[in-house]
Amino acid sequence: MSVIHPPRRLLFGPGPSQVEPRVYQAMAQPMVGLLDPYFFEIVDEIRKDLRVLFGTQNPFVHVLSGTGSSGMESALANFVEPGQKLVVFSAGYFGERIAEMGRRHGANVFVCQKPWGETFTEAQAREVLGREIPHAVAFVHAETSTGALQDPQAITAAAHGCGAITIMDCVTSLGAMPIHIDAWAVDVAFSCTQKGLSCPPGLSPITVSPAALEKLRARNTPCPIWYLDLKLILDYYEAHRYHHTPPVSSFYALREGLAAIREEGAEKRFARHQRAHEEFVRRIEGINLSMFVPECARRIPNLNTVQVPEGVDDVKTRKRLIAEFGIEIAGGFGPLAGQIFRIGLMGPLATEDNAAMFVGALVHCLGD
Ligand code: PLP
Repeated sequence: MSVIHPPRRLLFGPGPSQVEPRVYQAMAQPMVGLLDPYFFEIVDEIRKDLRVLFGTQNPFVHVLSGTGSSGMESALANFVEPGQKLVVFSAGYFGERIAEMGRRHGANVFVCQKPWGETFTEAQAREVLGREIPHAVAFVHAETSTGALQDPQAITAAAHGCGAITIMDCVTSLGAMPIHIDAWAVDVAFSCTQKGLSCPPGLSPITVSPAALEKLRARNTPCPIWYLDLKLILDYYEAHRYHHTPPVSSFYALREGLAAIREEGAEKRFARHQRAHEEFVRRIEGINLSMFVPECARRIPNLNTVQVPEGVDDVKTRKRLIAEFGIEIAGGFGPLAGQIFRIGLMGPLATEDNAAMFVGALVHCLGD
């Protein structure tokens, strides 16, 4: 009999993050049908827990069958019609991906571009949006390619001043730090399961404000992606009319991952991630390395970016971490290729002890 034996990695990268045994066990539970009442019970539990983590009262909190990019594509395909103006605030790879998707959907895209790693102030957002008067505005909360955290209200305050729909990518932040969709006045937000929620990849939680939902219902043209048409997906989850076959085992995993977060307590979990991050920074600076994002308040707590020191080969260092410690981290790409290490402290790995253990392993692998 042939059985696979994947290596046991310590996932200190930007995602997928470490998955707890109870989540794997949930995935091995018996299959049910896509219209089975038990499946919809699981879906309801998931939606309730996600509502807390999103920080919203929105009735529309759902899960798409696809990775984080499906949430991104769904947000653009459903809320921006061809020819409508979309402003994207971009200072990293995922901002650029949003803009590219917008262009492919025929939007009239204006990219407010800054160098990778920077973020936007409210004054900058007001200046651009006052001039462009867009239909929709999109930005990334936690830009995984740089480690920079955008203050959402800097953009949403300016966007609502001109009546635009606000779309936020919280793919890396959801589940690891507080998100306040309602208080931040975000209309559409999407995430993934394999980062802050510590589940396997494959699903995309998404929430939509009642105002944005009304605009969706008033669309002139049908959503161009049948598979990600939120009206059809809503019909499946609410009226239980078949749309597609959801990956049931992945829903079990998400249910279990969210239950683990609920049992720990979301606030306690966020505080644990913050403590692990602070310990990480303290130790990294203690060995005379520098964080890539200079200001503490602009750093993503669960995804640290560290400057590769002069003369160090980042690929070699990462290979040694895997070979000698089974530790996976990621490097930079695009303009940051070879310049940064991207190190996640998420889910079960987000502890002060693990931060210390990781920095010890890094010191070893930076040496000859
Ligand atoms: N947005 C951000 C900020 C991300 O970090 C990622 C993935 O790393 C994505 C979107 C795309 O998510 P996925 O790879 O799950 O499709």
